Amino acid sequence: MKFTRRTLLKVTGLSAVAIAILPRMAFAARNSLRTVRTGVQPGNKTRLVIETASRPSYTISYPTNQLVITLANTSANTSLAPAMAAGTLVTAITQAQSGDKLQIIADLSRPINEIPRDNIMLLSPNGDNDYRLVIDFTGATGTATTAASATPAKTTKTTAGRKYVVVIDAGHGGKDPGCIGKGGTQEKTVVLSVAKKLKNQLDAAGFQTYLTRSNDTYLKLAQRAAIGEKKHADLFLSLHANANPSRAMQGFSIYTLSEKASDEEAAKLADAENAADKIDVSGFEQFDKDIRIALSSLQQHAVAEMSVEYANGVASAFKRAKIKQQPGPDVRHAPFAVLRSTVPGALLELGHLSNASEEKLLKSSAHQDKLVAAIVKSVKAYNFDV
Ligand SMILES: [Zn+2]
Repeated sequence: MKFTRRTLLKVTGLSAVAIAILPRMAFAARNSLRTVRTGVQPGNKTRLVIETASRPSYTISYPTNQLVITLANTSANTSLAPAMAAGTLVTAITQAQSGDKLQIIADLSRPINEIPRDNIMLLSPNGDNDYRLVIDFTGATGTATTAASATPAKTTKTTAGRKYVVVIDAGHGGKDPGCIGKGGTQEKTVVLSVAKKLKNQLDAAGFQTYLTRSNDTYLKLAQRAAIGEKKHADLFLSLHANANPSRAMQGFSIYTLSEKASDEEAAKLADAENAADKIDVSGFEQFDKDIRIALSSLQQHAVAEMSVEYANGVASAFKRAKIKQQPGPDVRHAPFAVLRSTVPGALLELGHLSNASEEKLLKSSAHQDKLVAAIVKSVKAYNFDV
């Protein structure tokens, strides 16, 4: 497919959803287009399904009488024949590759309005399907309705029956104790205890959970991230406890991944947490070879947006549970190695071991239960499909 005149003409007409394209990483692990299909849904909705090998990062724009989905870091599928159902608003589908971006251009028989977020679903793999971006839409109101033929609804398989997968990462472990309180409490011990409690509670709530470590072992940060990928996780939670030069500092803080830290403090924290990998432990070379993480797609809109959405949710849940918050914004951003994956997620600093009273709290079972209850609420409230 050519990406020349056709696209140039379109650019001025784009009313792209406001997005922040974050800087890219050096190497690109490509996503690829598998299938494109249309169908009719109840309510005379047109359904467009774009299936990709990895979790897609996308933007949607609305040139006149077209719907354009731009997939970041994705290769075209030149042998693809879109499966077109009768009775939809889509008259033709073409692909246009520009650099590492792939545009899926759906020509429409009539104008449409901007599609509400509720009608755009990102489904994780199940059974025969890979990742699917599912978009439902109707013609713009005020225009004549088409006499759609009674085509049977072509539904895609839904995620019904598949449990949402949450990977819980207890930070540090083994030779790496993490930070240590004045009373001798080690971060690796506290977060493992919280992680196990959290796993039990989330399992009971109907989620499929995995721990990156279930005992006092050392894992590299990339190995932890890779577990999220391998388990097709929908959410990745990395649990930590903090230390501050000021022993008076208290409270939780929540972080998501970005290449630039949101503030100096976040930058220092990412440096400290990333330093775990500098502890030299041999024996993981083989594992490292197996790690294939789509580094650049995590930079993209969808994953970043979902991560921030979750992070805001867990910050609210902590505040509602009256857990003390470190002064500052609800969610900060920094380049945490453990969050480098295509899985949305956050790094939770549960409190300060450097503060004597919070050290006591963090090792108490009652306070750990309180933290876990708040995290469970945040996971239940998180919108996994969008
Ligand atoms: Zn830590």
